[in-house]
Amino acid sequence: MVKVVKFGGSSLASAEQFKKVGNIIRAEESRKYVVPSAPGKRFDDDTKVTDMLYKCYAEAEAGKNIEKPLKAIKERYNEIIKGLKLKLSLDEQFETIKKQFESKAGKDYAASRGEYLNGIIMANYLGYEFIDAATVICFDKNGEFDAEKTNTVMSARLAKTKNAVVPGFYGAMPDGTVKTFSRGGSDVTGSIVARALKADVYENWTDVSGFLAADPRIVKNPKPITIITYKELRELSYMGASVLHESAIFPVRKEGIPINIRNTNAPEDPGTMIVETTCVKPECIITGIAGKKDFVSISIDKDMMNSEIGFGRKVLQVFEDNGISFEHMPSGIDTMTVFVHQDEFMEKEQKVLAELHRAVKPDVLELEPDLALIAVVGRGMKNSTGIAASIFTALAKAKINIKMIDQGSSELNIIIGVRNRYFEDAIKTIYGVFVAEEK
Ligand code: ADP
Ligand code: ASP
Ligand code: MG
Repeated sequence: MVKVVKFGGSSLASAEQFKKVGNIIRAEESRKYVVPSAPGKRFDDDTKVTDMLYKCYAEAEAGKNIEKPLKAIKERYNEIIKGLKLKLSLDEQFETIKKQFESKAGKDYAASRGEYLNGIIMANYLGYEFIDAATVICFDKNGEFDAEKTNTVMSARLAKTKNAVVPGFYGAMPDGTVKTFSRGGSDVTGSIVARALKADVYENWTDVSGFLAADPRIVKNPKPITIITYKELRELSYMGASVLHESAIFPVRKEGIPINIRNTNAPEDPGTMIVETTCVKPECIITGIAGKKDFVSISIDKDMMNSEIGFGRKVLQVFEDNGISFEHMPSGIDTMTVFVHQDEFMEKEQKVLAELHRAVKPDVLELEPDLALIAVVGRGMKNSTGIAASIFTALAKAKINIKMIDQGSSELNIIIGVRNRYFEDAIKTIYGVFVAEEK
């Protein structure tokens, strides 16, 4: 049995947390490959080391003296080293980092040092081999992750070692330039390592006892999800359930490896299993709810648009030409609405509107900003009727106006649009209907 274990920032924020992690790893022989994040927050208004690094590098780029911010970062690591009573010094590494920052080695290089240094400590603490992710995670010359090359290089390297620590979050381009994934990307590294090893399980250790049916910062004590499919999870994480990076399922999916989300602070909890498919019936009609704020809807009205061949394509072309990705596109007979991210749209608002006029000559163009999208997801929805009706009724009762409702053709999700200010209340209300009341 081989398990890959990834530990998130809060699981490695202090020596105390490191000790919990050490106990978890030592509790099972199969936990042979470890992917650490950088030290996260120790308390609510603490700063993640990754954020300290970004800030410090921005100062270096501005030509400021970085002695002080770099010292604060070093302190975070030294506190861990001291608490674990390790005979380890990072002086040499910090010398190199200082020089690299001053010679402007790049923002990605800067951020990656968080995981790199934590990986060195972790390897020393466990007595495992340290493998620099820059040697095994490959990005192409355009900075795109190269999945197949990485799999070949990573498999070959890992075959030579029985126990190893591979820091999360970064890799390198062919010329050696360090490149990171997007924020939260250590989850992706863990998945890549699991795929390369054809591991039995990818354990992702964090600070909650699994994937919860709703964001715990919005709903109080949401129910943990016992088992969820890759597809359901993808919908939820894409729509903002930030517990796992939205790209983390792709590598393990190739090998059908399950992901087990676990809690470092409650290792006895079974957590959530994320699987390809399952006969296990969901406990509720819906598996979970997630959502994101700050969208704009652009409604395009034109009589008889349905009979105009290529209308939709011309509309979407305008967004594509302006580098704006669209999120949803519900349509009626004479109306088409496109939902886009507000920040992407605002920069080019008038340009996009002018181009839409030119492209499709609409009768009316209307904008509505400050909208939130909420996804209600569940494999159990396929065989139930009246779900949209229940959502309508509940939100109407709570006096929340629905701006849009769109059911995906897979019947795996329903997307609801509401004003930003109703976002939290809408999630609480829907949770109340489908999860809380079924108990
Ligand atoms: P890590 O540092 O371990 O990678 P993250 O902070 O990235 O952890 O993710 C865990 C956090 O995700 C939780 O503390 C929780 O606040 C948040 N979260 C948002 N939505 C959910 C959800 N549906 N289930 C569980 N956690 C969620
Ligand atoms: N440390 C990185 C971040 O804060 C990556 C991660 O935690 O997964 O985004
Ligand atoms: Mg994370």
